[in-house]
Amino acid sequence: MTSTRFAKLDAEDPLAGLRDSFDLPDDKVYLDGNSLGALPRGVPERVSQLIQQQWGHDLISSWNSHDWIDLPRKVGEKIAALLGAAPGQVICADSISVNLFKLLSTALALRPGRRVVLSQRDNFPTDLYMAEGLAGILGPERCQLRTVSADRLLSSLDEDVAVLMLTQVNFRDGRLHDMAAITKAAQAQGVLVLWDLAHSAGVMPIELDRRNVDMAVGCGYKYLNGGPGAPAFLYLARRHQDQVAQPLSGWMGHQNAFDFSPQYEAAAGIQRYLAGTPGILGMVALDAALDVFEGVSLNAIRDKSCALGQCFVDEVLARELPGIDLVSPRRAERRGSQVSLTHEFGFEIAQALIQKGIIVDYRAPGIIRFGFSPLYNRFSDVENAVTTLSDLVLNQGYLEARFSQKGQVT
Ligand SMILES: *Cc1c(COP(=O)(O)O)cnc(C)c1O
Repeated sequence: MTSTRFAKLDAEDPLAGLRDSFDLPDDKVYLDGNSLGALPRGVPERVSQLIQQQWGHDLISSWNSHDWIDLPRKVGEKIAALLGAAPGQVICADSISVNLFKLLSTALALRPGRRVVLSQRDNFPTDLYMAEGLAGILGPERCQLRTVSADRLLSSLDEDVAVLMLTQVNFRDGRLHDMAAITKAAQAQGVLVLWDLAHSAGVMPIELDRRNVDMAVGCGYKYLNGGPGAPAFLYLARRHQDQVAQPLSGWMGHQNAFDFSPQYEAAAGIQRYLAGTPGILGMVALDAALDVFEGVSLNAIRDKSCALGQCFVDEVLARELPGIDLVSPRRAERRGSQVSLTHEFGFEIAQALIQKGIIVDYRAPGIIRFGFSPLYNRFSDVENAVTTLSDLVLNQGYLEARFSQKGQVT
């Protein structure tokens, strides 16, 4: 039952109406939009029209008549508006992993006297894996990955570092980096910065241009709600474009792909960061999903995100639940849009919450993540989550054997 306090917060929420733009199940409280965003109502119709009319009837002419060929750029520009990026710097393509490869290569080429990719030890693993993969190809003379703890990042910048690769919001603890200060400190030492916006795009104002960021990547399927495996995006500041090639030199990044020339000639601008044929089904779904953001202020989104998270933190701490600790920063301005708790039986508690309709996820070791998506989450969702969590922990309901079965995806 919703208490008057939470009902009042929902009633006063200027973004409350946006929830109607999503198709959400009535029997679940969905707090995993940081992993897979919910389904916007506009998506099924657009995808169905694409399949039936464009693919089914208009067939191959759709590359021109429905402008399929231009979608990576058009969807990229829609995303650019959420990133504070002027036109011509963002393209929608591939996955974060693949885009990191292209941009790390670019960064090393732009800083020929330097070879280190500096990152945070507890960064999302794929970011580190991709840097290691690139180092394996280029060899230690041209590329080395160096990882340090978050508090040693700035003191580890030196003249060997070509690029500082960081995720703005940490996927485990939800901690938010100071993008402006770190970017400035790195650039003062001649280091390029590459920000991974997987957990920040669509949930806060970002201001890539104003912060003078060099490069960025991000995800289509988290807070942008583009659907499972939606294409990702990459940003490269205009001042760095056209200076170096990127190694995944596929035909979609060619200056004239349909000349079918045996010679590769990189396209001008951001388009050279395309490699192969874009997945049109996924890109149209993301394109439709992005319409939800039209006319919505990112400041209002951030304000609600902070309010949801702070409500949750304050309620959990006030209950002093045995064995539960807050892993995320206590103050909203230090967090992204997720709150992480830890408990010795974190995995079992996450499973029990999911069974009871509170959809969260688990990240080893022992961390339960509660993601707040301001476009569709309500303050009553926060209340439901806290009440259910509190009952489970106090009654040790998570100890039932069925909650310890591990699936392949957690
Ligand atoms: C979700 C996420 C990814 C995902 O990468 P893909 O290659 O798109 O699967 C990468 N980095 C971070 C920080 C993430 O949170």
